[in-house]
Amino acid sequence: MSLNNIIPFSEEQKATPGSCSTRTVTLIVPVYNEEESIQPFLDKVSPVVNGIATGVKFDILFVNDGSRDATERLILSAASCRSDISLINLSRNFGKEAALYAGMCHAKGAAVIPLDVDLQDPPEVIVEMIARWRDGAKVVNACRARRPGDSWLKKATANAFYRVFNTLAEQPIPRGVGDFRLFDREVVQAICQLGERSRFNKALFSWVGFEAEEITYERPARAAGETRWSYWKLWKLALDGIFASTTVPLRIWTYFGIFMALVSLAYSAVILGNTLLFGVDVPGYASTLILILVFGGMNMFALGIIGEYIGRIYTEVRQRPVYIIRSLHPSTETEV
Ligand code: UDP
Ligand code: MG
Repeated sequence: MSLNNIIPFSEEQKATPGSCSTRTVTLIVPVYNEEESIQPFLDKVSPVVNGIATGVKFDILFVNDGSRDATERLILSAASCRSDISLINLSRNFGKEAALYAGMCHAKGAAVIPLDVDLQDPPEVIVEMIARWRDGAKVVNACRARRPGDSWLKKATANAFYRVFNTLAEQPIPRGVGDFRLFDREVVQAICQLGERSRFNKALFSWVGFEAEEITYERPARAAGETRWSYWKLWKLALDGIFASTTVPLRIWTYFGIFMALVSLAYSAVILGNTLLFGVDVPGYASTLILILVFGGMNMFALGIIGEYIGRIYTEVRQRPVYIIRSLHPSTETEV
C-alpha cells in the first residue's frame, strides 16, 4: 500500500477535542457472509450513536470482505436511503485483518471505531468511548470483562495465546481487548503506514504506541449466524501474530545450539577418556540411535521455524497489495 491511499487530515479532522465544530466518527464494519446480521446491526447501532451528545456525528463504513450471500445487496439497499452509509467491496475474501485495514485507509472520520456486525461489540460502549475521546484520549480500548458468549475452548486458547505472545513480543498486547477500540485520526494515520502483508491488527495497534485508556464491557454471544473464524484460521492468525511481531523463536535456537554444543563437547570428552583408559567399547547402538532421532527432530523443528520467517519474507518481497477493491459506494471515493 502506498501512503497516497491514506486520507489526509481535513480541517474538521484537525479540530481539537473540546472545540465546538461537529466532528465525524467512522464506524468500520468488516462483513463476510453476514446477510442475517446487517439489518439487526443497523437497527441497534443507529439509534444509540445518533443519540450521543451534539458535536459528533457518525458514519458507517462497511467493508464487504468477498461475501457470496446477500450482504452487499442489503447494505446497498440501506445506503440508498441514508447518506451516512458507505461500502467498500473487496474483490474476494482477504480476511478480517485486511478488511479492517482497507476500512481504516478509507475512513474519513476524525476518529474511527472498528466494530463487528454481529453485535458482539455492544454499541452502548461507544457512548463512553466518545466521552473519553472528547476528553482528549487518542486510543480507547474496550476490554472484555467477561465473554459468556464464547466457548471455554475459545477462552482457554485465547488466554494461552496472550501468555505466549506477551512473553515473546517486545510490545505486549492488552489482554481481552479485540479490535473494538476508538482511534483518533492521528493514530489511524500511523496504523495505515504499516503496510505489511502478514497482518495481526492487535499487535500493530500496540506497536504504534500512544497512551490508551481502557473501558470494560461484557461481551455477549453473536446476535445471528455463526463465527467466521474456524480454529484453523485462528491458529494461522496466532502464528502470524507471533512470527510478525518477534524474532525470539529464531534466537532461541542460537542459545539452544550453544547449550547443545557444550553438552556434546563434554560428552565427547567422556567418550574419549573412556576409550583411552578402558579401550574401544563397541556397544552403543541405543545411545547413537537416540541421539540421531533427537537431533533429527530438533533440526526439523528449527528448520520449520526458519521456514515460517522465510515464508513471510517471501510474502513481503512480492509486494502485493494487502487487499483489492472491486467497487466503492458512493463511487466518488479515492480508488486504490
Ligand atoms: N469477518 C470478515 N472477514 C473474515 C472473517 C470475519 O470481515 O474473513 C468479519 C465478520 O463478518 C464479523 C467480524 O469480522 O463482522 C468478526 O467475525 P466473527 O464474529 O466471525 O469473529 P468472532 O467474534 O467469532 O471472533
Ligand atoms: Mg463475532
